[in-house]
Amino acid sequence: MQDLSFCRNDQRGVVRQKVQREELDCIHNDLLQLFSAAGAPITHIYVCPHESGCECRKPEPGMLLRAAEEHSIDLHASWIVGDSATDIQAAGEQVAGRLFIHNTAVAPSIECPDLKAKDLPDAVKLILEMEGIHAGKKTTNRSQHTLIES
Ligand SMILES: [Zn+2]
Repeated sequence: MQDLSFCRNDQRGVVRQKVQREELDCIHNDLLQLFSAAGAPITHIYVCPHESGCECRKPEPGMLLRAAEEHSIDLHASWIVGDSATDIQAAGEQVAGRLFIHNTAVAPSIECPDLKAKDLPDAVKLILEMEGIHAGKKTTNRSQHTLIES
């Protein structure tokens, strides 16, 4: 039984040279430290730096499939968490659950996520409830991973 989190990120800003790769690495390192300090370590951050037409840019599932292969993730036992329609679409039907975090900067229309949350802490709470996990005690063994889209 593993509880791992993965973060998947489209960064065409790198291609457009609005963001230097070193700056992005720095941001990701801060993110890893913040999540780790909060008790929710992120195992790996995947980045699509391409402009378009690649297999890893959302809603294409390339990065999900790569993470699944590289870390032996059972996608059918994983939740996908995102704040845009493309995040949820990338997961298709191959995950245990899809959770949409409402983001006022993104159009609210979203095709049938399994759950909706107001922010990431709310998302974690809802998934734990869905999985029957209370106060750190797991009563079911349904999902193994949480894949966070940003
Ligand atoms: Zn790409």
